[in-house]
Amino acid sequence: MPETLETVLEIDLNALEHNYHFLRNRLKPETKFLGVVKAFAYGSDAVAIAKKLEHLGVDYLAVAYVKEGVALRDAGIQTPILVLHPQPANFEELIKRCLEPSIYSPRILRAFLSACEKLNEKSYPVHIKFNTGLNRLGFWENDIDYIIDQTQDRSEIKIVSVFSHLAASEDPKENPFTRQQIRTFEKITKEVDEKLGYTPFKHVLNTSGIINYPEAQFNMVRSGIGLYGFGNEKGIDASLQPVATLKTVISQLHKIEPDESVGYNRAFTSDGYRITATLPLGHADGIGRQYGKGNTFVNVKGTLAPIIGNVCMDMIMIDVTGIDCKEGDEVIIFGKNPTADEFAATANTISYELITGISQRVKRIFKGT
Ligand SMILES: *Cc1c(COP(=O)(O)O)cnc(C)c1O
Repeated sequence: MPETLETVLEIDLNALEHNYHFLRNRLKPETKFLGVVKAFAYGSDAVAIAKKLEHLGVDYLAVAYVKEGVALRDAGIQTPILVLHPQPANFEELIKRCLEPSIYSPRILRAFLSACEKLNEKSYPVHIKFNTGLNRLGFWENDIDYIIDQTQDRSEIKIVSVFSHLAASEDPKENPFTRQQIRTFEKITKEVDEKLGYTPFKHVLNTSGIINYPEAQFNMVRSGIGLYGFGNEKGIDASLQPVATLKTVISQLHKIEPDESVGYNRAFTSDGYRITATLPLGHADGIGRQYGKGNTFVNVKGTLAPIIGNVCMDMIMIDVTGIDCKEGDEVIIFGKNPTADEFAATANTISYELITGISQRVKRIFKGT
């Protein structure tokens, strides 16, 4: 491993491979696997992750917006890409770049049909999204006749899959609700198959769905967070490997006397003689102010040191009193210890928010192949 000389997000492609196989091995061999690479592959690097997943033989990729799909096509990714939340303003670009839209409402269906008509497309692959209880995006069960009616005598599109999204697949308390969502999805897909006259493939599970409801894998699953090393439960996390490690270096050490303060607004005042270290990353890099004031710890040579005072835009200060360290030494913000999940929990948030928030200012480096 090269020495850490500045703030970097290290992306471990071997960990990604491990997580992919771990998740895949829980599924039937014939179940297709979609890797979710939206939001820069959960804050890591969408192109590198997509290339690796393509190499591993993933069946589908998904992004949230058209722009993200275009970046993958520009990088030479050829795997089918589902765009989860496309906007009509980008439909022509979506078509030109061979991206496949989620069609989630009557308005979106009409707009997509017109875009296909304009570009003279035939049998363009689309994915119909149904709302089964998340109440975020999707057609309602009683829209089926409308969808059939709009598409029946038209050749512009071909419905290749029907899908839905679970609201609380990670939460055992919501098991009855999740089972109800799955039953509703089954009912919808049965009716769609009958009325359509052909059989699109079906998918409803995200990562926690794969873990907790494997019986509902249908023809494909969609995994994001699991690929990046988090299973939303301790037992599963132990079998996964975090893909991203945020590391930095100690820029400067300070000797603080009793009653002296550290940082903006003097948010930390010292109760004694302390040594603090200033690190070159802050809220502009994705470590928000909620992580300041002593609640959150980083790893200095194996010892956890608290982030003290207010997080600044470009710096944080940590208390390294009693830790044998010097300027230039490496500090792990999150990775194996603490994990992004543990780090996020100190501010009552989740790994998803922390890792997707690591800003583009942080250099990405790669480990593994
Ligand atoms: C983001 C997303 C996923 C991935 O969920 P994870 O919990 O990260 O596995 C799957 N499906 C849809 C529709 C999503 O928006």
